[in-house]
Amino acid sequence: MAKKSSFKTTRSASQLYLSIVVPLYDEEASLRELHEKISVVMTRLKKSYEVIFVDDGSDDGSYKILMELHRQDPHVKVVRFRRRFGKSAALSVGFHEAKGEFVVTMDADLQDDPEEIPGLLDALNENRDLISGWKKQRHDPITKTIPSRFFNFVTGLMTGIPIHDFNCGLKAYRGEVVKELNIYGELHRYIPVLAHYAGYRVGEKAVLHHERKYGHTKFGLSRFFRGFLDLLTVLYTTRYIRRPLHLFGVWGIVSFIAGTAIDLYLSIEWAMGLTSLSNRPLFLVGFLLIIIGIQFVSIGLLGEMITRQQRPDEGYSIREILE
Ligand code: UDP
Ligand code: MG
Repeated sequence: MAKKSSFKTTRSASQLYLSIVVPLYDEEASLRELHEKISVVMTRLKKSYEVIFVDDGSDDGSYKILMELHRQDPHVKVVRFRRRFGKSAALSVGFHEAKGEFVVTMDADLQDDPEEIPGLLDALNENRDLISGWKKQRHDPITKTIPSRFFNFVTGLMTGIPIHDFNCGLKAYRGEVVKELNIYGELHRYIPVLAHYAGYRVGEKAVLHHERKYGHTKFGLSRFFRGFLDLLTVLYTTRYIRRPLHLFGVWGIVSFIAGTAIDLYLSIEWAMGLTSLSNRPLFLVGFLLIIIGIQFVSIGLLGEMITRQQRPDEGYSIREILE
């Protein structure tokens, strides 16, 4: 969803070409190697850049290594959280700090390959605002890949965005996209959806993916339950936040009409002496549907009242204003 305020529609000529944002929690074993790989690629690319490491409250020696890297390399910028706030929070703060005309995000565990950076940036130039990496040949345990396929399929189906891999850590953005996205909770899984609904042109590119070399994944099985709830949040807030009654009202009315029809039918039968209502469970079903219907319409109306509190001109993504 789009942030309410303060993004510039006309970008001032940025000095810096690329910001690389790396969120990390307890990744001490891979940081030096990652930094080295990024440096090699960026030296070859001959563009100005910064690497923003966002330490999500690591408990291992990650921060010590980051301090070292910061001392050795002027491209390195480090943000350290006081405690673990999560990957979305780390990305969000990294986005806020980023000064580049373009931004690339990548995981710190070496599963994403810095060699992909130039290709992703090229893909952006084909009239896209966001290029999401696609882990086409994925090197993860099957317990992760199967649910993830299902998720990607459902998300694609529900949103109509034709990409295969929504939650790839490796993504490239035009600077204005990240300044506008509001990533909180665990919504980093649905960044392409949020960007798409804000009006940005989202594309994808197949990228190399490696097995995790050091350490272990930072997300447990709960990722799938939370991921599902977050999908609901994203679908609801992107489509219906400004017109909640359209969602709740439709289902409320359908439920109310179905319930009324059922009970009316049973009441007529009862009046004609054909049935006794005490042994018709269907009567209760009808009753329930009527109550649910009224509830839904009421929730929709409450939603409309909340929507009214917003300023009507806020929250829309503006590409340009000519004055
Ligand atoms: N990460 C983080 N905070 C968290 C969880 C993960 O900053 O609370 C970072 C992690 O260090 C890594 C990236 O997010 O750089 C992706 O995490 P991970 O590799 O554990 O996810 P997976 O590859 O299993 O989806
Ligand atoms: Mg990983």
